[in-house]
Amino acid sequence: MTRCIATWLMAENGIKKAKDLLDEGKDSAKALLAIIQDVESDERFVSVGRGGLPNREGKVQLDGAFMDGDDLKFGAVMAIEDIASPIEVAYSLKDRDANNILVAKGAKSYALKKGFKEVDNLTKKAKERYLKKCQEDPLKAYDGHDTIGAIVIDEDGHMVAGTSTSGLFYKDDGRVGDSPLIGSGLYVDSEVGGATATGMGEDIAKGCVSFKIVDLMRNGKSVKEATKIAVLDFIARLKRSDIEARDISVVALAKDGTFAAYSNIPNFTFCIDDEKGAKVYRLELDQNGDQVYIEVDDAFKSDWLSKE
Ligand code: ASP
Repeated sequence: MTRCIATWLMAENGIKKAKDLLDEGKDSAKALLAIIQDVESDERFVSVGRGGLPNREGKVQLDGAFMDGDDLKFGAVMAIEDIASPIEVAYSLKDRDANNILVAKGAKSYALKKGFKEVDNLTKKAKERYLKKCQEDPLKAYDGHDTIGAIVIDEDGHMVAGTSTSGLFYKDDGRVGDSPLIGSGLYVDSEVGGATATGMGEDIAKGCVSFKIVDLMRNGKSVKEATKIAVLDFIARLKRSDIEARDISVVALAKDGTFAAYSNIPNFTFCIDDEKGAKVYRLELDQNGDQVYIEVDDAFKSDWLSKE
């Protein structure tokens, strides 16, 4: 049995590619890179990779992380500039004995030494978007984000997880959210399963939400229960400190291939592989607050894609 799942409908094409690779017998890491790099390189998706959302200074600073569920090794880059694929750089860091997380200038100079090409991630469109944002009155910083997070299991039961994002629009220079933080934006253990999050990084990181989901599964909860409990308990915990949780959405995959999503926002979408390639679902909650997954149609997809 193989399986792949990823956040948001932007992952649809990448999931199809990953499914083909898994069907050909390729491993989970190859499949995961295919999902995330498809989104990183597609300039229609403005919150990941090249053409990503610029920060306050008009710079595109990207975050990405990779985790291997067999040996729990990981690599991550944060606030990296001028490199098109943070996930690939993160992946290349995971087998090092130390120095697995690199930030900003150090991350870029490592990537260049490794042979990654220097590119200008501030595309014409990204620059226009930034200039328009600067004129907003009142200026709504952080309005605009969405991370690609994915989890894959291959025929050998080898699980991996990864994330890639430009983070929040108009973030401070050097700001990093949950996405490249192991335990917050992603966590995977092939003995149990994996999880990944998207939303307001400053909230998600307070609860190490991805680790929490995997831990609940380790302790006997189904993937569906684990996603719901982790998010709701955490929202309740924030409330006890008078903090109103902002966007938190998660997807998770158990080692048996069962999957789940949970969110506190409307219209959270995710993709999962199926016999024909990929399916995109929208999450709804029923009257008990339990997850219901509704397959989205082409009209929903084009509406979502037309939003900047
Ligand atoms: N979690 C990301 C961040 O805070 C943004 C997102 O996933 O929407 O940088």
